[in-house]
Amino acid sequence: MFRQAIKWVRANRELLIDVSDQIWQFAELGLEEFKSSNLLIKTLNEAGFSVSSNVADMPTAFYADYGKGKPIIGILGEYDALPGLSQKAKPFKEVLTEGAPGHGCGHNLLGVGSLGAALAVKDVIDLGNMRGTIRYYGCPAEETFNAKGYMIKEGLFDDLDIAMTWHPGNLNMLNLRSSLAMNSVVFKFHGRTAHAAADPQNGRSALDAVELMNVGANFMREHMISDAKLHYVITHGGDVPNVVPAEAEVHYFVRAPERHQVEELYVRLINIAKGATLMTETTMEIDFLSGMFNTMYTEVVDDVISDSMKKVGAPRFNKGDITFAKELKKSIPKNSLEEYYKFIPPDMMEFGKAILSQPLNKIIIPPIGKGKVDLGSTDVADVSWKVPLGEFETACEILGSPGHSWQNVATSGMSIGHKGMLTAAKILAVSALEFMQNPNLVENAIKEHNIAHKDKPYKSPLPDGLKPPFHRLKK
Ligand SMILES: [Zn+2]
Repeated sequence: MFRQAIKWVRANRELLIDVSDQIWQFAELGLEEFKSSNLLIKTLNEAGFSVSSNVADMPTAFYADYGKGKPIIGILGEYDALPGLSQKAKPFKEVLTEGAPGHGCGHNLLGVGSLGAALAVKDVIDLGNMRGTIRYYGCPAEETFNAKGYMIKEGLFDDLDIAMTWHPGNLNMLNLRSSLAMNSVVFKFHGRTAHAAADPQNGRSALDAVELMNVGANFMREHMISDAKLHYVITHGGDVPNVVPAEAEVHYFVRAPERHQVEELYVRLINIAKGATLMTETTMEIDFLSGMFNTMYTEVVDDVISDSMKKVGAPRFNKGDITFAKELKKSIPKNSLEEYYKFIPPDMMEFGKAILSQPLNKIIIPPIGKGKVDLGSTDVADVSWKVPLGEFETACEILGSPGHSWQNVATSGMSIGHKGMLTAAKILAVSALEFMQNPNLVENAIKEHNIAHKDKPYKSPLPDGLKPPFHRLKK
């Protein structure tokens, strides 16, 4: 069974690389991934999957099923790019299309690695003797908001038994680190325009309110738990200095290890915004864009993925890949590996240093980071609260390469990324088949998940009636 799935990925590597490279070239931003999602849907349709497209109020969200009955094993795919990161698949900085987006988080690989897994499992189902359904989730806009949260609210995960996903990374490793829970919110202030020099007494500045809110928020930092994070950008601050700005807005991220900590900080932040309106005689409205949970992994799923990683092995990089990686490494800051050292236990430090001194990770490394919190946020977290979930990364980037960088765009469009992606497809397929063959494993994972969430059931952080934030897309 496993061999058959691995063989399928090997035999179809050209197809998968072609789909991935096309999505890399499309490089579409969140909620606008029309060509990318269409290509994935077309490929799944042609393979005989039954596809439900345009789900949960998002034209680029979909899911696709193959097989019959239980268990239903879900594999998550993403395919959105990042603004301003256009880059050629070269080991030095060279823009492909000026000002265009690029796949700096490797989601072209993410979407297609998961696609390869779904298709490989389908091939094994076709042999007979395999019960269950394989489901591919086409999840848009991971970078910008909680699209998966909307898909959960729509009930698309209600019948799912197990979810698995992966992310292109620097290492071949099971991911045990949690992510930060988060709220993404825009505070819009409304004041009154006036001539800034001739009639200032009649103006009420929305920009003043934004600035005072930021001052308040910066003072709040002193009194937050140390693992919480607060970031903001002023997304509108007026047009010209000689008109008192009647409209101004500031976009905040509030992050913390636990959802309730985010919610507590968020209430305090709203109070600060209200204070700013009192000081400036302005009014304020809140545009809640997104909220998400921290990730909680299920050990049973982790163990299955870990075994599959050993069975499949690490990507096999050749001389050309190493030469490319060495060249690319020249552009990486020397201290870029410091973050990794935090996650290495002291007794593994020598081993860790040896791995990190290479330009590419060529072996499967033992899982590390349990109980630690990673520095970003992801909507995969919400799925992990809904159903048992496991996640891993494969080496698709060079070691030390920063996240969301042109260096990652480069490797996502050439053989280093391709090899990591094909490895991920095999690992996901082998893991899904393991669950389909062993109903006990599925039961145990669900049991473990239910126990972990007994006192903390999933309650969507998205307020009822909230729609995906299409109004925030740049025209
Ligand atoms: Zn990503």
